[in-house]
Amino acid sequence: MEESNKNITWQGENCLYCKYFIPNDVLNADLLERGKCAHPSLVKFNLVVSGRDWCNLFAKMSDERRKKLMDEGFKKDDEQLKKLIEESKHPGNFD
Ligand code: SF4
Repeated sequence: MEESNKNITWQGENCLYCKYFIPNDVLNADLLERGKCAHPSLVKFNLVVSGRDWCNLFAKMSDERRKKLMDEGFKKDDEQLKKLIEESKHPGNFD
């Protein structure tokens, strides 16, 4: 995969850029991806929030955490691709 495909735009001042947002799919988090809110006073409600939602408990995500999430997302994506390539060598897997 080309490196140029691995750019993500993180929008500020909403869940997407909040340190408590736990997206289901971090690589697509800027495209209305849903996730959970881990804020200590909200987590008990098991909220499903999108990256475009927001609330007055927003707290900006650090650059370090954003990089960590993105690195984890890229690693997971690469692992899924390798697994899929291996599975594709056995067409019977898809019957
Ligand atoms: S609901 Fe509020 S606290 Fe939770 S992730 Fe969104 S902005 Fe952050």
